[in-house]
Amino acid sequence: MNKEDIYGINKWGNDILEIMDNGNIGLKNPFYPENSPSDLIEIIKSLNERGISCPVLLRVTDYLAFRIQQINNSFLNAIKEIGFKGNYKGVFPVKVNQQAQVIDRIVEFGKKYDFGLEVGSKPELLIALAHDLSSESAIICNGIKDREFIHLAILSQKIGFKTILVLESPRELELIIKISKELNIRPLLGIRIKLTNKVSGNWSQSSGDRSAFGLSVEQVMDVIKKLRAHNYLDCLILQHSHLGSQIPDIIEIRKATQEACRFFSEITNQGAPLKYLDLGGGLGVDYTGEQKSALNSINYSLDEYCTNIVETVKYELDQSNISHPTIVTESGRACIASSSMLIFNILETTNFDSREIQTKNKNDHPLLKNMIQILEYLDLDRAQECLNDLNYYRDEIRVLFRSGQIDLPNMAKTEETYLNIINKIKKVLVSSTEITEELQTSLDNMADIYHGNFSLFQSLPDVWAIDQLHPIAPIQKLDKDPNRRAVLNDITCDSDGIINKFVLRDGISNTLPVHKIENDEDYFLGVFYIGAYQETLGDLHNLFGDTNVVTIKLKENGGYQLLHEQEGDTISEVLSYVEYEPKDIINRFKSIVEDAVRSRDLSLSERKELTQSFKESISGYTYFEK
Ligand SMILES: *Cc1c(COP(=O)(O)O)cnc(C)c1O
Repeated sequence: MNKEDIYGINKWGNDILEIMDNGNIGLKNPFYPENSPSDLIEIIKSLNERGISCPVLLRVTDYLAFRIQQINNSFLNAIKEIGFKGNYKGVFPVKVNQQAQVIDRIVEFGKKYDFGLEVGSKPELLIALAHDLSSESAIICNGIKDREFIHLAILSQKIGFKTILVLESPRELELIIKISKELNIRPLLGIRIKLTNKVSGNWSQSSGDRSAFGLSVEQVMDVIKKLRAHNYLDCLILQHSHLGSQIPDIIEIRKATQEACRFFSEITNQGAPLKYLDLGGGLGVDYTGEQKSALNSINYSLDEYCTNIVETVKYELDQSNISHPTIVTESGRACIASSSMLIFNILETTNFDSREIQTKNKNDHPLLKNMIQILEYLDLDRAQECLNDLNYYRDEIRVLFRSGQIDLPNMAKTEETYLNIINKIKKVLVSSTEITEELQTSLDNMADIYHGNFSLFQSLPDVWAIDQLHPIAPIQKLDKDPNRRAVLNDITCDSDGIINKFVLRDGISNTLPVHKIENDEDYFLGVFYIGAYQETLGDLHNLFGDTNVVTIKLKENGGYQLLHEQEGDTISEVLSYVEYEPKDIINRFKSIVEDAVRSRDLSLSERKELTQSFKESISGYTYFEK
């Protein structure tokens, strides 16, 4: 049996996935790694039997619980080892995944660690206030706040919430002081600092002088003076800074922490009783498993992240004789990414294989004859030359076709010959390890297209928007050689709905190794690490709506338990998002059918069938149904 891990599943999926003996992907229970995993194909099959079809977004609660435990334990261990005298208290930034099922579980799993929530808008604040948080966990309010936001936040302290208003601008302060006086409640305040250190990666604009968020040094000084003048300096208990997301390099985290500590010391010396040092998000996910400082990878482990932060804070604050604070981080991505995966089926495939070997014929155009002749000198050393000739002859013949000098049979034979020869070149190159970029591109252009039952825009928006890499692999047949190479097309009618960058064990590839799909069998692909940001950023392109969502809990000894099922959008729902009233649209269709009964001899039974079919569609799934 061949179980070579060409997809790198053991690298990027190490603590959650495993290739099983039957060739399927198994979901490992991270709390019981030695126990047998749950067969993902079995899970999909049993969901299908329940009437839940692909595409399915599968949430595995154990992975979320595990990450929350890991992050907290890692910080607690670092604190112990380093002899840090303060605490750690994390918060989950709600914007990263606001879904009720997710937030409910984060609150549940986080309770014993006093895990709190970070909110950036009024709706997110309302979500946080509807949860039974432990009395020691914080609700940290970032973002631009109006009167209503501030009013509710301050008032919520009355019912036991530790709601901290982080000042994003000097203007906000006046409003907060005014409202707090009206309510006669002292607010809990934070101050957001704009650090000068810039980070690399996709979110570098969140850091440095030009960052949209936080106060510059002059503004910090201003705010402190104002607080003092109004006798509110004693309310300032938290200092916040956020560097961005998916920070690839640990050095950048260390430098930023160091700078944040300098502010912490200075602001403390100005007389503010700071208790919390909030370092924001940025803890990355190693989507590629490469363990290096690159866009979709990180060059540090969770333990290293925690140790570096705790060590730096201790060192810097000891230097200035400031007592150790409670460290807060706002890790969204690292908390939630691994707990969701998208599973979809392949609907059809397009390949560029050639049917037959082309032989020269006396009616062939001379250029076509030359093209066929390439086969006579094709070998490894001359592969590039053959490709050049092949492209040259085809271009010339295409020009002749456009100007009417070559007929359809000759043109068809040319294209067929082209495919035939390029496939031959591909075969010749199989044994070669040094393929030039140009040859590789030509070969990539010959890859199959696998058409998947999903919308990139709905389910994987960051793949479209910022070329995010999420690992993708077939979830079956991993004991067999994947004998084809493919790119993936989604079900939308948008040429951007394509995936052509893939994470493999040996690096990033433009094509995904896949298996040939035999007579109509089901073939499923999984896209992993999609729990962060994707669900809310997704849109309704072509009116493909939310997919079915299923939350499962893994059993200790294999198998799983279905905790929650959320049916995807129906057509009627997505129509209502774009201002159609489903009842109205049915009536409109009915009246068109009724007109046809009158004027076109439509029979009454045909009328019934048409309206029935329309009604069934409108209550159905927006994706391809079997
Ligand atoms: C988005 C955001 C986060 C989350 O960042 P991750 O990189 O996902 O951990 C944390 N804090 C603030 C203020 C944010 O805006």
